[in-house]
Amino acid sequence: MLVVVGLFGLALGSFLNVVIARVPAGRSLVYPGSACPGCSAPLAWYDNIPVLSFAVLRGRCRTCGMHIAWRYPIVEAITAAVLVLAYVAFGPSAEFLIACLLLPALIVMTAIDLQYQMIPDVITLPGIPIGLLMNLATGRMSWIESSVGILIGGGLFFVIIVASRGGMGGGDLKLGAMLGAFLGWKALVFGLFIAIVLGGAIGAALLLTGRRGRKDPIPFGPFLAAGGAMALFWGEQAFSWWMGGFGG
Ligand SMILES: [Zn+2]
Repeated sequence: MLVVVGLFGLALGSFLNVVIARVPAGRSLVYPGSACPGCSAPLAWYDNIPVLSFAVLRGRCRTCGMHIAWRYPIVEAITAAVLVLAYVAFGPSAEFLIACLLLPALIVMTAIDLQYQMIPDVITLPGIPIGLLMNLATGRMSWIESSVGILIGGGLFFVIIVASRGGMGGGDLKLGAMLGAFLGWKALVFGLFIAIVLGGAIGAALLLTGRRGRKDPIPFGPFLAAGGAMALFWGEQAFSWWMGGFGG
């Protein structure tokens, strides 16, 4: 079963690459088929096999020799890895189904935010009701827990955007609300905590090493995505552990 989940993850990762390349440009996901961005040569099926084709072609287009971005095999491998981890953690369950929706969405948003400094509304806006409805349909948590998550996730970034006068974007607000819908407010609090710690540490490291100046924007989406993914796996336990620690 883990092999099946892994192969599904590779195929899904290949599709996510299409989403990452086309959604920011507003292009169709189905038409035309995959082609080399350099020479427009259409890709044969055997040049479009996740990870394997990149290795066989040594990262170059068969027709024109242009370098294929490392993003392609990385996204495919990470998608397969996180779905296998989710299956190991959750087994065949509602949690796994929710992981199959949330984790790929977070991978797409991380890649798009890193490359284009934006978080696409076409994923976050539908993601808010989908997260809420999935939790209701599976009985995983009450609608209150999910709705309060939406309010906290969106509200926190609303406050940050107002206070920082645009230092953070509306995309982060919608992603925060979507994470709240999927995770519920308890796990969300853990995810936000991780995102802020990671973002602060890596942001400080980039400043100190001179890789980024004080005025350069550092996208926060990837940290939110990482915090959200960790919260899906450990959020509930971390929250009750905190509460237990504070209570006793
Ligand atoms: Zn080419």
